[in-house]
Amino acid sequence: MIPYKHEPFTDFSLEENKKAFELGLETVRAYLGQDYPLVINGERVTTEEKIISYNPANKLEVVGRVSKANKKLAEQAMQAADEAFKSWSKVKPEIRADILFRASAIVRRRKHEFSALLVKEAGKPWNEADADTAEAIDFLEYYGRQMLELKGGMKVESRPGEFNRYNYIPLGVGVVISPWNFAFAIMAGTTVAALVSGNTVLLKPASTTPVVAAKFVEVLEEAGLPKGVLNYIPGSGKEVGDYLVDHPRTRFISFTGSRDVGTRIYERAAKVHPGQIWLKRVIAEMGGKDTIIVDKEADLELAAQSIVKSAFGFSGQKCSACSRAVVLEEVYDQVLDRVIELTKELTFGDTEDGRPFMGPVIDQAAFDKITSYISIGKEEGRLVAGGEGDDAKGYFIQPTVFADLAPDARIMQEEIFGPVVGITKAKDFDHALEIANNTDYGLTGAVITNNRMNQEKAREDFHVGNLYFNRGCTGAIVGYQPFGGFNMSGTDSKAGGPDYLLLHLQAKTTSEML
Ligand code: GLU
Repeated sequence: MIPYKHEPFTDFSLEENKKAFELGLETVRAYLGQDYPLVINGERVTTEEKIISYNPANKLEVVGRVSKANKKLAEQAMQAADEAFKSWSKVKPEIRADILFRASAIVRRRKHEFSALLVKEAGKPWNEADADTAEAIDFLEYYGRQMLELKGGMKVESRPGEFNRYNYIPLGVGVVISPWNFAFAIMAGTTVAALVSGNTVLLKPASTTPVVAAKFVEVLEEAGLPKGVLNYIPGSGKEVGDYLVDHPRTRFISFTGSRDVGTRIYERAAKVHPGQIWLKRVIAEMGGKDTIIVDKEADLELAAQSIVKSAFGFSGQKCSACSRAVVLEEVYDQVLDRVIELTKELTFGDTEDGRPFMGPVIDQAAFDKITSYISIGKEEGRLVAGGEGDDAKGYFIQPTVFADLAPDARIMQEEIFGPVVGITKAKDFDHALEIANNTDYGLTGAVITNNRMNQEKAREDFHVGNLYFNRGCTGAIVGYQPFGGFNMSGTDSKAGGPDYLLLHLQAKTTSEML
């Protein structure tokens, strides 16, 4: 087995790569607007009611029309997954891993097509789409290998005359509720982690990006996944989501999305329903309010670049995005000026042609929420860049910077999930850390400093799941920077980490007298 190495990103300055991507876009254009059925027990099920997936850069363009599950169909899918678990859980881990490796090879061959689909369906700029697809490939490769590591269990001691073993077995049916912001990577990663561990899955993708999930389900089928093991059931959270979260046969829920929905799932999953014989597990990856601290002894150009890139990459629609910067007062004006300059230089517009740095936000609800936060920001701080939105053709919002905010301002506390960053001043490094820690979240953070002692202080006291030094706070790589957060950011389930699959397994001790 070749050792795991992450999938490289595509260099679009090379003409051949640009051409290859354009071919991907052509492939996707040819299937725009098609219908996608549900997949229940390997059967295609078409419903009257549809979820329409639009291109957020061009609201009139329909990416796909996807059948919509209801409670009855969700129940059928549950029964199929429950039945399939009996055989799938007995399939050797090696064979389950092989399906992931094959799927990875298929995706790699169609890499630019998948990324082009993300350009259309999620409004991603090319490089962000490329990174999303690369991460999906990484999850397939990494979790496949992780299962091979875990298949023999862990070492335990045995006394003379006894033989003890400690093995991991699957849990049962998992409900995977995936987000639109990493519409491929997180959807694929959470699904295949559950599958390779021997569980069966009901996949309910985000309603704004269901087409990429439908395409991925086809890839897994092509790679050899048996019927019923993965069921594709897009639908409304209130109807299908709640029904499955409450279901007595649901063994675990793997959720990525907002704090509101995550806490609701956590609470509902805690209730034991008639006929339920286990306590459900919840894996929840929720929001962030992520801070970059700039020390006074620091590379200030690096600081400004890191803030701008982490704040506005994919229009700030990452739970890892930098939505607050805390800058020491000695260097505050200098860093702020450079952030403003860099922000004003950012290219921004339709992501399909021209390749701007930033594209649209995902939908009307996001547009409305972000622009209302911009109005709040104008009251709370000083608008120094951006501040305008235009939803005539797509959902475009300028990269926006607010300066001089109080640490407890709403812009500094609430997750906006858009291209808005708030900047505040700190008296000294301890004060900066105190401000950085004063949110309900704890996902990512970064410190730009050349002071080793301050760096070490942050390593201990900056309370986030992913802490970076002298770089931005987005872009965790599978198998290199396991990703997940503290506090209201979720259950600190480290996606792309060595213990992630264990969340989908239960340990069994056997002890034999010799
Ligand atoms: N893993 C991504 C990163 O490190 C963020 C994932 C998310 O936004 O949900 O940037």
